[in-house]
Amino acid sequence: MPKRASSDRWRIAPRAKLDLAALDAGSKAGAPGDKAATRMVSAELRARLDDLQARLYAEGSRSLLLVLQGMDAGGKDGTIRSVFAGVNPQGVRVATFKPPTSHELAHDFLWRVHAQAPADGEVTVFNRSHYEDVLVVRVHNLVPEQVWRGRYAHIRAFEQLLHDEGTTIVKVLLHISKEEQRRRLQARLDDPRKRWKFDRADLDERLYWDDYQQAYQDAIIRTTASHAPWYVVPGDRNWYRDWAVLSILVKTLERMDPQFPEAPAGIEGLIVP
Ligand code: AMP
Ligand code: MG
Repeated sequence: MPKRASSDRWRIAPRAKLDLAALDAGSKAGAPGDKAATRMVSAELRARLDDLQARLYAEGSRSLLLVLQGMDAGGKDGTIRSVFAGVNPQGVRVATFKPPTSHELAHDFLWRVHAQAPADGEVTVFNRSHYEDVLVVRVHNLVPEQVWRGRYAHIRAFEQLLHDEGTTIVKVLLHISKEEQRRRLQARLDDPRKRWKFDRADLDERLYWDDYQQAYQDAIIRTTASHAPWYVVPGDRNWYRDWAVLSILVKTLERMDPQFPEAPAGIEGLIVP
């Protein structure tokens, strides 16, 4: 059995200091080997994730929520594709959060989010999330400061509610460097297979890089909790990032330790005619 990462490496403890600028987005710390060796370990973790997901579904009484956040071109889509490549498609649901519609905006900011929370037995991935309401909304002053400031407490209460009702929450920031974002946005321009993803607005957002980093840092510090921890995963290298997120999920599910239900009484030794 290869050594498994201690996912604690990336976890932000409550009341810990966090300086995103000081965290190396290109880090390979703790990786089980070079790119090829790490990918082999990731393949084993995928198989483990598939088994744990099957158990969680069969058990049918608890759920797992992965909140994925990151800058534009931060690797959210690629992470979802890679991490869940080996899992039963019926067992995972991805909820993607775009700018709110006018209908959604007419409600509180958690309204559309709560509706996507996982049901018993489910694994749900939030591709962006309620955190946008203290990130992009803060950076662009889409609501008054007093309103977005109040949202940290609402987010904490919301996540406490989900936790108390049986949802295990894991929150991951895919942390890339500004230079890596430049490379990836340029690749979207240069590679015909990626061009559809290029969005002019991403260039405007890039000008607000420092404001976003500050917003992320504050959001993470204010909402990381033992029952809803934030993990900051170095994201410049895809193979490291995939392995890290797989490690975090497998570790989380192993702690949950979902069990296949007991067989109903009276079926021992039954033969199907
Ligand atoms: P993409 O991830 O490229 O599909 O872009 C989704 C866009 O939706 C991003 O620019 C987000 O900032 C934006 N977005 C998501 N949630 C919200 C929100 N609550 N308020 C404003 N913009 C949002
Ligand atoms: Mg985009």
